[in-house]
Amino acid sequence: MKAASFRGGLRLPVPENVELKPIKAFPAPDRVLVPLTLDPEQSVDLLVKKGKNVKEGEIIGQGVSSVVLATISGKIEEVNKDFRLPNGERTTVVSIQAPEDEALVKGKDGLLPKGSLEKIIQAGVYDYTGRPAPLLDKLAFHRSRKIKTLIVSCLDEFFVQGRTTALLHQHGQDVLDGIDILKGISGAQEAVIVVYAEAVQALEILNGLDRFKIVTVQARHPQHKEQLLVTAVTGNEYPAELAPEDFGVTTLNAETAYNAARAINHNRLILDKLLTVAGSGLEEPVNCFARIGTPLGEVLEGLGLDRNSIAKLILGGPLSGVAVSDLETPVTQEMDLIFLQGRDDLYHFSPEAVCFKCGYCVEICPMRLMPFFISGFSEGQDYELAEKNDIFSCIECGCCAHVCPVHIPLVQWIQLGKSAIRAQRS
Ligand code: SF4
Ligand code: SF4
Repeated sequence: MKAASFRGGLRLPVPENVELKPIKAFPAPDRVLVPLTLDPEQSVDLLVKKGKNVKEGEIIGQGVSSVVLATISGKIEEVNKDFRLPNGERTTVVSIQAPEDEALVKGKDGLLPKGSLEKIIQAGVYDYTGRPAPLLDKLAFHRSRKIKTLIVSCLDEFFVQGRTTALLHQHGQDVLDGIDILKGISGAQEAVIVVYAEAVQALEILNGLDRFKIVTVQARHPQHKEQLLVTAVTGNEYPAELAPEDFGVTTLNAETAYNAARAINHNRLILDKLLTVAGSGLEEPVNCFARIGTPLGEVLEGLGLDRNSIAKLILGGPLSGVAVSDLETPVTQEMDLIFLQGRDDLYHFSPEAVCFKCGYCVEICPMRLMPFFISGFSEGQDYELAEKNDIFSCIECGCCAHVCPVHIPLVQWIQLGKSAIRAQRS
């Protein structure tokens, strides 16, 4: 089977003979900071006050078709209504401190045996492919749009993460059952699983399953982005102002399928997030389940890392991630890669550098844009021209900034330009 690919982008390093390690499960921390929402457009009512005792799994926030759960038992220490998330958005964060008395620690045993849709809400299942949102909202939207094809991504941002391959190895049956559930609720006619052609151990599990179509893609960055996934499966590109659902296609990911099966088939609450921690201080990437709300500093300590040896922590990978300066930032549903850089690994951009039109950024852009133009217009605050040059088609993969010989922070200027345009519109 020929693996699909696309023009531009960066070939990802594929290590040979990787030994799959079991996913590490961190014990529940003593303190969590649970965000009520990651999307400012989503309204969630706070159900608790400072000083209240809550049980693990208790509902502390209620949205229209979603709940926010206490991820440990303990006392509400603080409700911070002006917490800044790594993406710059502000949200309410509930801080819970575990009690010293062990007897108070036990939480809910699981979900009550209700119908599937109710369980998806009550278990707190979210999906973060594209935009983080309650899973049931997404599935209801897919059904209303009569989507034909459900694409399930088994692609990590970087091949070496091995996060999804480890999930398939350890919980393959649940992932596959979850895909059946997602397909059923969304009303899709077919489910297509996309996997790296080089992910031999994942393919061993998927090959021979005739109820799903398997599409293999080359390990090339940023193949995991929604626009390129859809093109790999359908052969069609769609313009930035439209969504894949406009063409009868939608995308979810393997972890969401796993969580749907945990909720519906095993009555489990979703209190944790599957993460990869990679980079400085670690011999190889570590895949782990961490409680939602765990401060990132505690995740690092759980891996035996010294906070002071880390010069930069990036959420989402070195090419397109967001640097985080506060190690109190909690683990959220949308995180999947924490990349660490030591002082010697830091990459320095040169905002003062002048473009000499070498064209490398144009050559590598998978969206066939002119990065130096768009970034220049953003830098000069000429947002009309940035829009005319298709700034919103940029998928923020970071390839252009990576290859620029004079280190212009191209993608950072583009991100700033998009935020400014959105702010002007609102
Ligand atoms: S312009 Fe956007 S899509 Fe193109 S390479 Fe740069 S970051 Fe990626
Ligand atoms: S890679 Fe850098 S120097 Fe070359 S055209 Fe792009 S912005 Fe200009």
